[in-house]
Amino acid sequence: MLNIDLTGLTAVVTGGSRGIGRGITFALADCGADVAIIYAHSSEAALGVKDEVKKKGKRSLALKCDVSHEEDVVRTLENVNNEFGRIDILVNNAGINRDTLILRMTPENWDEVIETNLKGTFLMTKHATKYMMQNKFGRIINISSIVGITGNVGQANYVASKAGIIGLTKTTAIEYASRNITANAIAPGFIETDMTKKLPDRVRGEFLKRVLRRRVGTPEDIANVVAFLVSPLASYLTGTVIVVDGGLSLG
Ligand code: NAD
Repeated sequence: MLNIDLTGLTAVVTGGSRGIGRGITFALADCGADVAIIYAHSSEAALGVKDEVKKKGKRSLALKCDVSHEEDVVRTLENVNNEFGRIDILVNNAGINRDTLILRMTPENWDEVIETNLKGTFLMTKHATKYMMQNKFGRIINISSIVGITGNVGQANYVASKAGIIGLTKTTAIEYASRNITANAIAPGFIETDMTKKLPDRVRGEFLKRVLRRRVGTPEDIANVVAFLVSPLASYLTGTVIVVDGGLSLG
C-alpha cells in the first residue's frame, strides 16, 4: 500500500480495464480514491477490475465509452458525476498503435491513432474540467510515451499522437492554472502489457539491452508515479513530463 491518502477523491481512468490503466486504477483505489473505469471493448475485463476495486472498499464504475466520440464522452462523464458527485482526477491512458513505416502507412492508420490517442485526450480534458472547475480542484495525468520525445521507426502516427499529448498537457496546465487544476504527463518506456506482448522476441531483446534497469517495466511502475502526481506531495508540479523508462532512452 502506498503511503498516499486520496480518500474522498474520485478518479476517471480511460482504458482502465487492462494493462497500465488497470494498474493505475488499483493504485488509486489502494490510496483511497473512488474510480470510474472507462473501456472500449471488453466488458468482462472492465467488470472484473470494478469488482476488485469494490473489494478494496471503494466505489467503482465500469463504463463503455469511445474516447474519440464527443457525445460518448459527454454522456459518460455526466454519468460519473451523477454517481460520484464530483470528478477530481482524470487519467488519460487509453491508447492504440497501428505500427508500420510511413511508406506503407495509410491515412486511415494515421487518423485512427490520432483520433484515439490525441483527440480522445483533448475531449476527455475538455469535458472533465467542467466538473473539476465546479470544485476548484483537478489533477490531470496524460499518458504519453518515451517515443513521443525520441521518435521511433514504424510509429509515425503513434509518435505524433504522443508528442501532441505533451503539447496538450502543457497548454492544459497553462489554461487551467487559475482553477487549481494541474496537468502533467508521464512518458513510459517499455512496459509489459498486451500492447508490447505483440512485439517479436528480437525487438523485445533489442529494447531490453538498452534498459539501464535491466528489466521491462510493469504497470505498477507507472501507477506509482500517477499516485504521486495526483497526491498533495506533487501540488507544485504542473506542465511537466516525467520519463519512467528505466533508463531506456539513455541506453
Ligand atoms: P493496452 O492495449 O493494454 O490498453 C489500452 C487500453 O485503452 C485498453 O483498455 C483499451 O480498451 C483502451 N482503449 C483503446 N482505444 C480506446 C478508445 N477509443 N476509447 C476508450 N478506451 C480505449 O495498452 P497499455 O500498454 O496498457 O497502454 C496504456 C497507455 O500507455 C497507452 O496510451 C499507451 O500508448 C501508453 N504506453 C504504453 C507503453 C507500453 O510499453 N506498454 C509505453 C509507453 C506508453
